[in-house]
Amino acid sequence: MVEEVKVTCKICGSSVEASQFVLDHHYKMMACPMCIRDRKSKQKKNVEKQTEEQLVVADANNEENIEVLRSDASLGEIGVTNSPTTNEEDVDIEKEYRKKLIEREKEKEKAVRAVRLDDEKVKYKCPKCKYEFVYNTVKQAPARCPYCSDDVKEFVC
Ligand SMILES: [Zn+2]
Ligand SMILES: [Zn+2]
Repeated sequence: MVEEVKVTCKICGSSVEASQFVLDHHYKMMACPMCIRDRKSKQKKNVEKQTEEQLVVADANNEENIEVLRSDASLGEIGVTNSPTTNEEDVDIEKEYRKKLIEREKEKEKAVRAVRLDDEKVKYKCPKCKYEFVYNTVKQAPARCPYCSDDVKEFVC
């Protein structure tokens, strides 16, 4: 069984399966189901609050702006309400984004992990044969895995 790749939600920071992400019009980015639910429950409140804030600002500047700002706020609401009927372009962006997320996660998994021992040395595990050996980052030695002679890859620690 292939495990679903989990990605971190940029908004709430929780780890969610990539396929669960939805392009959200309000956040203008991919959001996890929890954030969508959260956003929907807070949406009304926020819009009201924003409008109030905008009105205060507008009042200070120009009274004529008030009407414009009001219609802006309601337009935003309509846009969000329409979001379940995503158009094809959105679906494409969503697909692309998800693909990129998955690729990035895979890259991370592929990255060779090393454990820092001291200023010079790290414990490096050969990704090819899983042999563990001490690698000197200053001398950059050994350049190859002593066991399978595979090049020492870039690693993170
Ligand atoms: Zn989230
Ligand atoms: Zn090796």
